[in-house]
Amino acid sequence: MSSPTLSAPFFVDLHCHLDLYPNHLELIRECERLKIKTLSVTNTPSVWSRNKVSTASCEYVRPALGLHPQLAREREKELDLFEQYLSDTRYVGEVGLDGSPEFSDSWDAQQRVFRRILECCARETGKILTIHSRRAVRAVIDMVGAMLPPARGKTVLHWFTGTKQDARAAIEAGCYFSVNIRMLGSARGRELIRSIPPQLVLTETDGPFIRHKTGPVTPGDVVWVVRGLGELWGIDEGTVLKRISGNLKSLLS
Ligand code: MN
Repeated sequence: MSSPTLSAPFFVDLHCHLDLYPNHLELIRECERLKIKTLSVTNTPSVWSRNKVSTASCEYVRPALGLHPQLAREREKELDLFEQYLSDTRYVGEVGLDGSPEFSDSWDAQQRVFRRILECCARETGKILTIHSRRAVRAVIDMVGAMLPPARGKTVLHWFTGTKQDARAAIEAGCYFSVNIRMLGSARGRELIRSIPPQLVLTETDGPFIRHKTGPVTPGDVVWVVRGLGELWGIDEGTVLKRISGNLKSLLS
């Protein structure tokens, strides 16, 4: 593709599992070279320390401390570790709830885990959370709304698949949204993104869980999200990047 964005100060990939790629160290270097501000989310507290080490010298990559809802039952015992590491970082994810039938057995554990995570974050204040809410949007919004108001922490719903009404409830709870190419690839997804105020939108790849062309997406593929948002908003890609970097700034403020 052409490079319409070479003059951009930076890109944003607010949700990528860099540690799950076989060439993750190479990808960390690539994020630095391409100036992609990447939030490298993790799925269990036990991998936190090595992610912290592998990104320690980075200017653009930040690790996030997570406990993925799909692993809640197996990893609930790592909540103590989560709490122990939390003061190490401002960034938390991947966390949340998954209401898909295949994870219904762990629903109680998921709620216990997410509740404790929200409690800890509310107590420490100032955290930024990237949240999974597949088939559990209302439960996520209710818990966030009750336990982590914006004054105590910021929340970003990643790969949001709720309705427009759910989106309004999330906006009222103070949530941001990080969008990816899969959301932009469906009419329903585009319609949903159009219903979200542009100042609450951020970009993500959710690599390696999304495939694009020949293989899993990498943070560099965030350019496709920028392009898709430009088409959707009817603005050029440079303006999209300015908007996203402004949104990131307000998220971090
Ligand atoms: Mn993810």
